[in-house]
Amino acid sequence: MSTSQVMWEGVAPTTQDPHEIGWYIESADEDVYGPVSRRTLRRFLAEDVISPNTLVRHCTQPEAVPAADQTFLKEKPPEAEGVEEASLFDAEHNSGALDEARGLVVGDRLAATWPKRTRDQEALAGDSLPCAWHNRPATLVCVRCHAPYCNKCRARPFGKQFFLCKRCQSGIHNRRFGALILDNLILIYLPTILVGVLLGALAESLDPKMTLLLNGLLNIVVLSLIFFRDSLFGGAGIGKRASGLRVVQARDGTSPLTFGQGILRWLSQFIPIFNLYDAIVPFRDPLFRRYGDRWAGTRVIDTEKKLQKDRAKIARRLFKKRGVQLPGQFGMTMEELARLS
Ligand SMILES: [Zn+2]
Ligand SMILES: [Zn+2]
Repeated sequence: MSTSQVMWEGVAPTTQDPHEIGWYIESADEDVYGPVSRRTLRRFLAEDVISPNTLVRHCTQPEAVPAADQTFLKEKPPEAEGVEEASLFDAEHNSGALDEARGLVVGDRLAATWPKRTRDQEALAGDSLPCAWHNRPATLVCVRCHAPYCNKCRARPFGKQFFLCKRCQSGIHNRRFGALILDNLILIYLPTILVGVLLGALAESLDPKMTLLLNGLLNIVVLSLIFFRDSLFGGAGIGKRASGLRVVQARDGTSPLTFGQGILRWLSQFIPIFNLYDAIVPFRDPLFRRYGDRWAGTRVIDTEKKLQKDRAKIARRLFKKRGVQLPGQFGMTMEELARLS
């Protein structure tokens, strides 16, 4: 029995569809409009503001596809829907007409129709799903924590289409920063101090050349620890492990990074000043990449345990405070998100 069947039979009447909100529309003029609710999207289609082959993307999906091919738009709520719309999506019986319509209709009237005022834009975006944190309609759904969230909870700048809510976007960034500091403390300062103390104690009996050699060795050990700290321990060094993070290859989104990638992604950290800039870049990147991650083809994502824990927390909050339940699985996984470029 599928989730939708359960929903229809009223076994879980509070389960709501996350696809009710959070749609982006890619206009023929290359601008992206949205987010809008599914209701707005259907109205736009009915009023020819957009055409069946206008590209639309749900905020939890990786790619935009023609509105006519969007399965989530085809799913009908139990209440009666317009007959016109139903025939538009009824590809089986109407494929010829649809193809014809696609061939003819290429443009859209978004530029002329899209409201200028923020409040009017928000009215197009909200429906019955509430924000997990604010007492107002949600406009998007977070790929990471699965929370529906309002415009107050959107990561900025608004022009970028973030996959994560502001909390998750900054949360991942802060945890990475914390992991970096922890790693620096444990892998650089701690050994340096320990060896420093040891050398100091042995200074009397040691040859100065020997001291120099030991210092050099220490530098090599510390450097390789920093370079390989994540790849040595299956994708997560001490700091990342403590923060519930792991480094994966963007190639498949699951394999831990290689030694080579460990070096590449840390090169940027050895360029003075740029390293500071690079450390805060993930905050504003929808795929939360440092430049090091771009060069090495790596992504930093949650460990499965941390992810499930945070999702469960949000699900409890939604149910208790808003009486809302979302399906356990929807949208792309974090691994799929890690594969995007
Ligand atoms: Zn989130
Ligand atoms: Zn909010």
